[in-house]
Amino acid sequence: MSHSEPVTGGCICGGVRYQVAERCKLRPVIACHCEQCRRFSGHFIAASGTQYQYFSLLNEASLRWYSYLPDIKQGFCGECGCSLFFDYPKEQRISIAAGSLDETQGLALAGQIYCEEAGDYYHLHAEGEMAEAGGFSVACPT
Ligand SMILES: [Zn+2]
Ligand SMILES: [Zn+2]
Repeated sequence: MSHSEPVTGGCICGGVRYQVAERCKLRPVIACHCEQCRRFSGHFIAASGTQYQYFSLLNEASLRWYSYLPDIKQGFCGECGCSLFFDYPKEQRISIAAGSLDETQGLALAGQIYCEEAGDYYHLHAEGEMAEAGGFSVACPT
């Protein structure tokens, strides 16, 4: 498993496929427990991410975008319904649902945000930075 090899991922039906140019350009995983992520994912979002320059769509046939927060677009498959992306155009980066990656070797959970809003039906497992609101210190690799 090389650091410089491409990483791929996508939804269940294959209508959305993407690639990150090099494995080492993936950000460590951040979990978000906010209400929107809970609804978007059905539980909570655990996302890696990368800068635009390393990201490419290999198939976007069924990719749909929706915006429920300013300056962020949520990407999902309009066919099979998988939650996939959070696009931050102003920051030129995209968050990628970690579970949509074909292989997740080498990735680790680095932080959890909006812990205050976590659903009552599960216990937060303390791992990485724990933030009550949205801030975290882990940036996408340049
Ligand atoms: Zn799909
Ligand atoms: Zn969230």
